[in-house]
Amino acid sequence: MRTVFVNGEYVPEDEAKVSIFDRGFLFADAIYEVTSVLSGRLIDFDGHMGRLERSAGELDMALPMDAAGLLDMHRELVARNAVDEGLVYLQVSRGAVDRDFPFPPPDTPGTVIAFTQTKKLIDNPKARTGIEIITVEDLRWGRCDIKTVQLLYPSMASTRARKQGAGGAWLVRDGMVTEGTANNAYIVTRDGTIVTRDLSHDILSGITRKAVLACAKKLQMKVEERPFSLEEIDNAVEAFTTSATTFVQPVVGVNGKPVGDGKPGPVATKLREIYIEENLKTAR
Ligand code: PLP
Repeated sequence: MRTVFVNGEYVPEDEAKVSIFDRGFLFADAIYEVTSVLSGRLIDFDGHMGRLERSAGELDMALPMDAAGLLDMHRELVARNAVDEGLVYLQVSRGAVDRDFPFPPPDTPGTVIAFTQTKKLIDNPKARTGIEIITVEDLRWGRCDIKTVQLLYPSMASTRARKQGAGGAWLVRDGMVTEGTANNAYIVTRDGTIVTRDLSHDILSGITRKAVLACAKKLQMKVEERPFSLEEIDNAVEAFTTSATTFVQPVVGVNGKPVGDGKPGPVATKLREIYIEENLKTAR
């Protein structure tokens, strides 16, 4: 049984309790981060905590723990659960108060929970085979740049993908891809340019996106940050996604049509390799 973290305490997972009045539970008034663990160490921890602070700031939410405390807690959870490879999920809500729409007074203590999941991340068969995805209209709210637990629409889209035998879904607004349900989306054009949507309120600023784009630039690959259309996917030679737990994941088919030759391509394969190599160096 796992040991999880709830408001300052390490407890067995079946003893962990959060109030039914928690605003995360009642209003999705909570933010989260998922940090991957490789060789027992945290990948890009500072990037994830930086984004957590930004999400909190955008929502006027106080963080009950500082970055140093959160690092100690993450390390403690990884150690107590002997996680060699996997992830740490962290969630912070605005706390538990009697149900009312306006935010409660700022001194209301927030709720902090975290747990680990052991998972093979490097030796992921989908990285070798690539995945097929479908596209779904993006009906999420207008602040997708804030990492909130309001994940019902992405869950609906992922469920639709699974029912159709696909490995994921990309979201499309006004004919242009925004991002995946839980990842950022990329194509590689015939001239070798990597295209991914530019940062705005429409997408989450992926921690892996930033690191992978830095790797691409280092490898002197051409990168364009701009929206791309479904027609451009038809003409692309490669497609892929990035996220903290899947790193770089080749996409070999979209809506039943192969991308390029329908196999993982050299750009995604190279970026995955370099991303893992580079980020292991700075793991904490
Ligand atoms: N976009 C969305 C909507 C996500 O939920 C995620 C991760 O969960 C990402 C992008 C990728 O972000 P990161 O690379 O920080 O995991």
